[in-house]
This record gives sequence, structure tokens and C-alpha cells, in this order.
Amino acid sequence: MKKTFRRSLACLLLLPVLLSAACQQTPEPAPAPPEEASVSAPEQPQPAAPDGTSSAEAEPEPEPLSPPEAEPPREEPKEAPPPDVPPEEEPPPEEISSGAKAPQTAQEDPCAEPCPEPEPPCEGTDCQSPSGEEPVPETPPEEEPVQEPAPSCSKLYILMYHDVVEGDGSGCNDWTITTGRLREDLQWMTDQGFTFYLPRELAQGVPLAEKSVMITFDDGYASNYTLAFPLLKEFGAKAVISPIVRYVQEGVPGYLTWDMCREMAASGLVEFGSHTYDLHGADDQGIRRLEGECQADYEARVLPDLQTSIDLLSAELGQPVTFFAYPNGKTEPWAVQFLAEHFSVTVTTAHGPADLSGGLYSLPRHNVTVQNKASQWLS
Ligand SMILES: [Zn+2]
Repeated sequence: MKKTFRRSLACLLLLPVLLSAACQQTPEPAPAPPEEASVSAPEQPQPAAPDGTSSAEAEPEPEPLSPPEAEPPREEPKEAPPPDVPPEEEPPPEEISSGAKAPQTAQEDPCAEPCPEPEPPCEGTDCQSPSGEEPVPETPPEEEPVQEPAPSCSKLYILMYHDVVEGDGSGCNDWTITTGRLREDLQWMTDQGFTFYLPRELAQGVPLAEKSVMITFDDGYASNYTLAFPLLKEFGAKAVISPIVRYVQEGVPGYLTWDMCREMAASGLVEFGSHTYDLHGADDQGIRRLEGECQADYEARVLPDLQTSIDLLSAELGQPVTFFAYPNGKTEPWAVQFLAEHFSVTVTTAHGPADLSGGLYSLPRHNVTVQNKASQWLS
């Protein structure tokens, strides 16, 4: 400004006439200053006339300087903010892996002034953006990994069936179900995306799906082969059948034969477990100790029976026996060690879903009847 005043003064003294003429042209350059800033605007209007002559030379210099300086600074801040917002929200997951590299360059330049105090938070790529204040909340991604244990499921629904009959179910009791109802159960579980498991799969540690179910048939009724097996094949559903082995061995009418068992075992859909050889008993005590029975007598009476069931099943079917269903759901502490040594999975008749995180022994089940559909327990 000082220079322009000096020049204007000289011009006023030497070429007043020319100045007046030139002043008529100055109005054009005048508008330029206002663009730079409001501060310079008031000062220039007065010397507008003197600048007129020299303005031809002076203008080109200040004008080009002013616009480029003024525009870039305005554009940069405008462009910077937008990128800051999206990257901070979207990239968080990616920054976790690449975060170690970014901090090195980020801390040097941009963080020099704004991030002196909050050095620790600048470790991430946050400091790359001038407004590196929001990045701090990016810490939450560290909490996500905590949710990793989710994939491992331990909940297993175990359904308990016994005999299967045809008809409308008018003569069914709690241990009998119609083929129509069994079909409905299998259809519903299939539609709901349930995965069927066998005891040997649990023993092998096969991970459970989000919706897992194991179907069990107790006592070894012939209907398991004549009526249930066709449906299992139709739906590709797996099931474990636990016969009272003596009934099979002696060919008791109404119960499975070894040929039936072998055919089902060969399908891969059916596994056979033990329901004792002949201790199901009429007194409903199963393998429970008798009143006044000592442990030695108990072991001499019960353990050989269990061993016989295992030997016959494995010999006749050529498959290891991994499953035991307590007759009538009656457990017995004196049998626990033997059962643990010979079976991988045991079930009772206690009601409820099984949580395998607590082991594979004495798992509860859901008894399915004509009145109580599988969907009622699994929903
Ligand atoms: Zn039974």
C-alpha cells in the first residue's frame, strides 16, 4: 500500500491530466481487492485514482497472488472435512490391521502441532485428518473380538421317542406317537434349519450348528424300522436307537431284529446305543441299586449286563457303542465310573435342552408325544 501511495503522489504531481484519464479506468481493478478480503477493501477505494496508471502493472501481480492464495485455502478445508467423516466410520475395521503403519507418518506431519498433548490417541490414522478428535471413539473395534466365542454353540435339543403307530393317535400314550406327527416334527425341524446329530459325532467333538437336535428312540420297537426309518430316510434325519438288547437277541415280537438294526446302521442315519441288556425291569428301577444291596453285589449284577449289551451291539452291528440311555431315566452313582469308561454320551429323561459345555453325560431330553410336538420344545 505504501508503494502505491508514493507512486500515486508522483503521478499527481507530474501527470495530473493523465491521472484523471487513467482514473476512469481504475474502477475495473477495484473490484479485485474485495475478493481478497474485506479488510483491504476500504483502503483501496481512496487511492483508486492514483493506482490507475500504475495499476496496469501492479494489478497483474497482486491479482494473481490474491486469488490463488485465497482460493486454495478455502478449497482445502472444504475437501478435507468430508473425507474425514467417511473414513473414520467405514475404515475402522481395516485400520485395525493397517493401523500400525499409518501412525508413523501420521504423527510426524499433521500431529506436530495439533496433537502434541494427545500423543497416545494419535497412534492411529486419526491424526492424518486435521480434525483428529473423533478418531478416539474408534477404540470400540477392540471390543468386537470379544464376541468371537459366539460361533461355538453348546445347546443341543435331544428328542425322546419310543413306539410309532399309524392312525390318528387316539390310542396313543406318552410313549407312542403317530407317523403323521413324526412326519410333522421332521418337516418342521427341516424347515427351521435344524442339524441332526448322532452320539458318535458328539463324541468326536463335531461342532454344533446354531440349531442342533438329536433324535433318540428308546426300547427298540419294531416300528422304529417299519415306520420311523422310512421317514428318517425321506428327510435325511439321523437318530440313535437304544434297544433293550435281550429283546433283539431273543427275537421278542414287536421289537427290532438284528437284520433290521444292521440295515439301519448301514444307512449311516442310525446309530445304536445301549438301554441295558435286560435291566429295564418291570419295577422301573433300571440300573438303580436295589434296597439294601451292597456295592459289590450291585456291580456283579449290573455291570455284566451292561457289558453284554455293548458286546452284542458291537458284534452284531460292527460299530462301536458310544451311547447309553438310562432306563426310565434312573441314574446310579455306582454305575457312573463304568458308564464313563464305556460310553461317550448318556441321557436321562430329565426335561430340557442339553448344554454340552457341561459334558456329554446325563443329558436331559424332551419327550415328544401326540400332544407335545417337537416344535413346542425347539421353538
Ligand atoms: Zn426305556
